[in-house]
Amino acid sequence: MQTARRIQALPPYLFAEIDKKIAKAKARGVDIISLGMGDPDRPTPSHIVESLQLSAKDPRTHRYPVYEGMLPFREAVAGWYRKTRGVELDAVSQIVALIGSKEGIAHISLCYVDPGDINLVPDPGYPAYSTGTMFAGGTSYKMPLLESNGFLPDLSAIPHDIARQAKLMFLNYPNNPTGAVAPREFFEDVIAFAREYDIIVCHDAAYSEVAFDGFRPLSFLEIEGAKDVGIEFHSLSKTYNMTGWRLGWAAGNRGVIEALARVKSNIDSGVFSAVQYAGIKALTGPQDSIAQMQTLYAQRRDVVVEGLQHLGWELEKPQATIYVWAPVPPGYSSTQFATLLLEEAGVVVTPGIGYGEYGEGYFRISLCVEQDRIEAAIRRLEEAGIRYSK
Ligand SMILES: *Cc1c(COP(=O)(O)O)cnc(C)c1O
Repeated sequence: MQTARRIQALPPYLFAEIDKKIAKAKARGVDIISLGMGDPDRPTPSHIVESLQLSAKDPRTHRYPVYEGMLPFREAVAGWYRKTRGVELDAVSQIVALIGSKEGIAHISLCYVDPGDINLVPDPGYPAYSTGTMFAGGTSYKMPLLESNGFLPDLSAIPHDIARQAKLMFLNYPNNPTGAVAPREFFEDVIAFAREYDIIVCHDAAYSEVAFDGFRPLSFLEIEGAKDVGIEFHSLSKTYNMTGWRLGWAAGNRGVIEALARVKSNIDSGVFSAVQYAGIKALTGPQDSIAQMQTLYAQRRDVVVEGLQHLGWELEKPQATIYVWAPVPPGYSSTQFATLLLEEAGVVVTPGIGYGEYGEGYFRISLCVEQDRIEAAIRRLEEAGIRYSK
C-alpha cells in the first residue's frame, strides 16, 4: 500500500547519514561524545517525582482525564503566569493542557489552515511548525532568521500578498536552534503586523526559564495586545527536566484556545491526571531547581563558548537556551563539518541544515552533557587540529 501524499511529503530525515556513521563508530568502540540532543540530562526534581508516585496510587487518577486539563492544573498555570510575568489569564477559557507543547504546535494548524493557506514559519526552526502546517494542507512561507538581524525575522521582508494569505505566524524565543532572544519592541512589531494582516501569532516559549546571568526572557503574553492576536505554547519539559512526562499548555486568546481544545478533544483524551498533579507541584512548589539548572547550563555554555573561542571562533555567549549555535568554518557544509567532527574527534553535533535551509553554515551544540565531557570534546577538537579559520 502506498502511503498518503502527506507522509511522502515529509522532509527527508537529514540526520540519517550521520546516524549511520555514529552507529558504525560506536561499533568500532569509539567513545562518542554526543552534543546533539536537546534533552535535559539531569533528573526531574524529586519532590515532583514523589508527587507523581502518590497521585498514581489514587484510583481516581486512573480514569479518563478532563480533556482540556483539570481545572487545578490550569489554575496553577494561571498562577504561574501571574507570579512570574504579571500576566492575568482566565484558567477556564484561556488555558488548555497539552501532551507536551509539541502536540499543540503540531495540531494548531488543523484549527485555522485550509488546503492552500499559508503559515509564516521561522527558518531555521523547530520542525513541528512546518510539518503541522503541511499535515493541515497548508504551505510554509519561510521567514529567514539571519545573524545580521539578531536571528529575528524581518517582518518588512514578508510580501504583502503572502501576509494577506497567512493564517498563523510561528515564533520561538528564546530560540532553538540559534539561542537568540527577542526584545520587547520586536514583539510589539509582531502584534501590530498580526493586527494589520489578521494573523494569529503562536509563540513557542519552551525556553523562557532557561536563561542566564540574571536575564529574564519575556513572555509574549506580557506584551500589550498579545492576547488579542495570539497564544503562547509552554511546557514543563525544559524548565523542570520533564521532557519524558509530556505535559505542556497553550495560553492566551480565548477563541484560539477554544479551537485548539475542540480539535484535541477529537484526537486525544488529555494528559494522565497524576502527571497533571505532578505538574501542579512543579509550578507551585519550591522553585530552587530552576536557579540550579540555570547555573549548570551557564557553566557548560561558558566551557563551550570559551573553548570554541580558543579554537578561533568569534562567538558571543547566548543569554538563554540549552544550545550554542556556531558557524562552520569556511569550505564546509554543515553536514560535512558535523561528519568531520564525528570522524576525527568522535564528537556529535547537529548540522544546521537539519533546521532549514537558512541553518546551513552553522552547527548546534547542546549543553545536555556533563561539563567534563564537554571539556573532553573541546580537547579532542584541538588535538584533531579542528579550528575556525577564515
Ligand atoms: C523542547 C522544545 C519544545 C518542548 O516540547 P515538549 O513537547 O513540550 O516536550 C517546544 N519547542 C521547542 C522549540 C523545543 O526545543
